[in-house]
Amino acid sequence: MTLDQLLRAIRASSLILLSNARLWAPNTHVPLETRRAICAYRRELLRMIAAHHWDVCPTRDAHRKEVYYCNGEWICGACERLGIVA
Ligand SMILES: [Zn+2]
Repeated sequence: MTLDQLLRAIRASSLILLSNARLWAPNTHVPLETRRAICAYRRELLRMIAAHHWDVCPTRDAHRKEVYYCNGEWICGACERLGIVA
């Protein structure tokens, strides 16, 4: 599974990554492949969470109006403003 595939899987299942890049998905079946990919890409996910990257925003529907493009990446302005790292 590539990082892009993992990010799509996270969005499709509305999974939430905590600030330590561990998964928070109570009462949700998460395929083993997805769990393994989260571990494999943990370092990159940590970087994205710390940078408030749009792909790891935990509440995309609520934050959609504040997304902006900066230095080649989409950033969630709401997570950045609120200091949310999920
Ligand atoms: Zn956000």
